[in-house]
Amino acid sequence: MKNITIIGTGYVGLTTGACFADMGNNVVCLDIDEAKIASLRQGTIPIHEPGLQEVVIRNADAGRLSFTTSYAEGMRDAEYVFIAVGTPSDGDGGADLSQVRDAARSIATHLTHPVIVVNKSTVPIGTGDLVTSIITEHKSSDVPFAVVSNPEFLREGSALLDCMRPDRVVLGSADRDAAETVARLYLSLQAPIIVTDVRTAEMIKYASNSFLATRISFINEIAAVCEQLGADITEVARGMGYDKRIGPAFLDAGLGFGGSCFPKDVRALMRMAEDAGQHPQLLEAVMDINQDRRRWAIDRLEEKIGDLRGKRIALLGIAFKPNTDDIRDAAALDLIALLEERGATAVAYDPAAMENVAAVRPDLLLAGDAYQVAEGADALVLVTEWNEFKALDLARIKASMRTPVLVDGRNLYDPTQIRSLGFEYVGVARAPEATPPAAPAWDRRVSSGKA
Ligand code: NAD
Repeated sequence: MKNITIIGTGYVGLTTGACFADMGNNVVCLDIDEAKIASLRQGTIPIHEPGLQEVVIRNADAGRLSFTTSYAEGMRDAEYVFIAVGTPSDGDGGADLSQVRDAARSIATHLTHPVIVVNKSTVPIGTGDLVTSIITEHKSSDVPFAVVSNPEFLREGSALLDCMRPDRVVLGSADRDAAETVARLYLSLQAPIIVTDVRTAEMIKYASNSFLATRISFINEIAAVCEQLGADITEVARGMGYDKRIGPAFLDAGLGFGGSCFPKDVRALMRMAEDAGQHPQLLEAVMDINQDRRRWAIDRLEEKIGDLRGKRIALLGIAFKPNTDDIRDAAALDLIALLEERGATAVAYDPAAMENVAAVRPDLLLAGDAYQVAEGADALVLVTEWNEFKALDLARIKASMRTPVLVDGRNLYDPTQIRSLGFEYVGVARAPEATPPAAPAWDRRVSSGKA
């Protein structure tokens, strides 16, 4: 049992803290957001993450997990201090490291005994050195400390599972003993552990996210070609995915990627490359193709219902993917902006993200459910493939719409079935006629991976 403090209690920090507590450690989760900590102390988690609330409550009740806004309290008994604060885009493509700098300064000023500082935030190459120098500069005593990079790979929506069953654990440090000490925290997870230097560990994170984003833009580029030539992208992806060298994950054509990680991490890697005198031409294309996917939806709407001025467009889903309330860099927000530019009115519904969207867009029309959002709409766009949207009564939805146009931005629906209800259906590069026959039982091994 170790004493672990996690700084930053967002998607990564809270999940990591809950998992370490569940593994039997004493964990203090620290955040400067007083409302967040107050709500966590009441047993209410401020994010939508399946299963997390139960694990948080179980471990808080067992006395292994506590919450504070005080660095003095958080640092008092800590042996390991994890940094899991945000690293958003700085507006110029780079990563804004102000939260990391603040956390490092606060660690330094409260350092009274040796600790290992473990950086879980996604940070540009070289940030480990920056954290080391900030702590060295601001600590008041001679207390030794080590810095280890430990990038996080969990996915929102399946964060607990990813945390408890990671594909790998990456640790980078100039202090091999410190890295191996941190490795012991993870031994019971039985995942491969890679111990390397800090810069390599930091790059593994950016390279991984950028590779996954590249797969999505790749399949979207193929989808655009399929659409012109009459091939079905879902079948193309299935056929590709059986190839063991390719695999089925991240081959879903659609409206492109979003979220708090892929767009900002690809941009930050491009920025690092440029600063290093390199031209990140592939990554530029990845981002351009992704933006084209948002315009694809607008083009399809204009094809079906003409000039969008004065039209009412309903969006099913706002979160950047299912099972999360995260709307950072979500496709829906881009679509809403494009619709508004064209004089259309957007109305939206999401099962989990309504509060978050109301906070950033209080003027946006929001509906109470998937049926209400479609009422009187000139077209419906499926933006986020939530499970609950699969089983909607689409005949009822059609009856309430002004014109029954459905743009399926994630290929969630069966085109034949939707058309048989009387919809004008547009999927992403689906075969123009009927869909191919369903795969026989022996051919159903491929499952798709989502960002
Ligand atoms: P988040 O915005 O949800 O949470 C960050 C938290 O840090 C906030 O609660 C904020 O109040 C707190 N904070 C900010 N400054 C602080 C300070 N000085 N002291 C204490 N707390 C402070 O962020 P997130 O989504 O959990 O991401 C955290 C990091 O992990 C980022 O670098 C991100 O790129 C990376 N990451 C995120 C995911 C993901 O799916 N969200 C996955 C892997 C890696």
